[in-house]
Amino acid sequence: MSTIKEPSFRESVDLMFNRAVALMDLPPGLEEKIRVCNATYTVRFGVRLRGEIKTFTGYRSVHSEHMEPVKGGIRFAMGVNQDEVEALAALMTYKCALVEAPFGGSKGGLRIDPRQYDEHELERITRRFAYELAKRDLIHPSQNVPAPDMGTGEREMAWMADQYARMNTTDINARACVTGKPLNAGGIAGRVEATGRGVQYALQEFFREPLDIQKAGLSGSLDGKRVIVQGLGNVGYHAAKFLSEEDGCKIIGVIERDGALFSPDGIDVDAVQQWLAKNGGVSGFPDATYTENGAAILEEDCDILIPAALEGVINLGNADNIKAPLIIEAANGPITAGADNILRKKGTVIIPDMYANAGGVTVSYFEWVKNLSHIRFGRMQRRQEEARHQLVVDELEQISAALGGQYKLTDGFKQKYLRGAGELELVRSGLDDTMRIAYQSMRDVWHSRDDVEDLRTAAYLVSIEKVAASYRAKGL
Ligand code: GLU
Repeated sequence: MSTIKEPSFRESVDLMFNRAVALMDLPPGLEEKIRVCNATYTVRFGVRLRGEIKTFTGYRSVHSEHMEPVKGGIRFAMGVNQDEVEALAALMTYKCALVEAPFGGSKGGLRIDPRQYDEHELERITRRFAYELAKRDLIHPSQNVPAPDMGTGEREMAWMADQYARMNTTDINARACVTGKPLNAGGIAGRVEATGRGVQYALQEFFREPLDIQKAGLSGSLDGKRVIVQGLGNVGYHAAKFLSEEDGCKIIGVIERDGALFSPDGIDVDAVQQWLAKNGGVSGFPDATYTENGAAILEEDCDILIPAALEGVINLGNADNIKAPLIIEAANGPITAGADNILRKKGTVIIPDMYANAGGVTVSYFEWVKNLSHIRFGRMQRRQEEARHQLVVDELEQISAALGGQYKLTDGFKQKYLRGAGELELVRSGLDDTMRIAYQSMRDVWHSRDDVEDLRTAAYLVSIEKVAASYRAKGL
């Protein structure tokens, strides 16, 4: 065990930021302006529950307003505190800049264990929190747009959006005040899967680059890669599901709150998820070996490690023992600054959080645009696209007939080609494009500068440069 003190989450983000700006040529004042959080609002409010008044503490932190609205999720968890919310808000700024979502960075949190309350109680607590935030424009379509995070989902977003709409009855854009809403309440197809889908697209792009695969000491494609995932929540579940079902990865380890499952033959992610929903934990799952000490599985031999749960899980205490040559940070801040130094020296390739989990905010951006334009994606073009494709197919079939029917279009081709893209396909295509472009922008810096050793520093350089450019354009 090292005797060096582990920095807090916010200090970790600052240390990583400082490492990157040391390689840039920013005026010192601007550097400081970008680094610090602009404001953090703390609210304490009471809700009468079960015959007594319970007091809750919540936060909304705004890190950077170089673009507005500012954007970022709201988490419900007992560990929520100001330091954490500020670190997460800073990551949102860099994340949005990296994937070119036109937002500043923000984050919120409510210190609560959602499992202790029933649905009706949670609704009252959420609406009251939303009321406190909306009153101060900390929920607002053009100022501050929350989204789901740990412990929250579509249901909470629907309550928040409705609360805002009740308080702003004439706001035609009210639905754009929050993203991650259910489809029938102004949401968008593909938002729930988006962060996990983004992790898949990020890995697919990584595996298109032979040099990068080699840097991680790996070879070949995603097919057959052994993956360990920590956290089977929304992000971890979707990432593991898509990687195993569509890319041929083998999920050999799943780490959850109550322990971990391990099986060199691969684990059925859907089966574990169903088990988890029914039993509240992974213990007792029949088709894998259960270990109570879940953290130990982080140190198992595998090709790709996906921390998709909490921050700080890879730290000075276990970094030396991590064997995965490639880590993709599906969670925010799973690797502390100290652990990052150790892993970098070992040659571990880390696909950093601000890129790896940006799929969520990317599709949030699409949802926000959909809400502001008041029309579903694809509604205008879809049938027209199909009609034009039908013309081509008719023409090809005529040619085929003229050639004596020797060359026939395959059914598969016709089916695929004739179908115009619906909203889900468009969302996935937009997300894939975003993840590919953002990866290339990081990668260019990683490979073109001798003083940039890792993808994280490259990601910071790209995003800080974009934030700085927007401050410069404002004349700051
Ligand atoms: N909570 C997610 C994140 O940390 C999504 C944020 C959003 O969609 O605004 O990126």
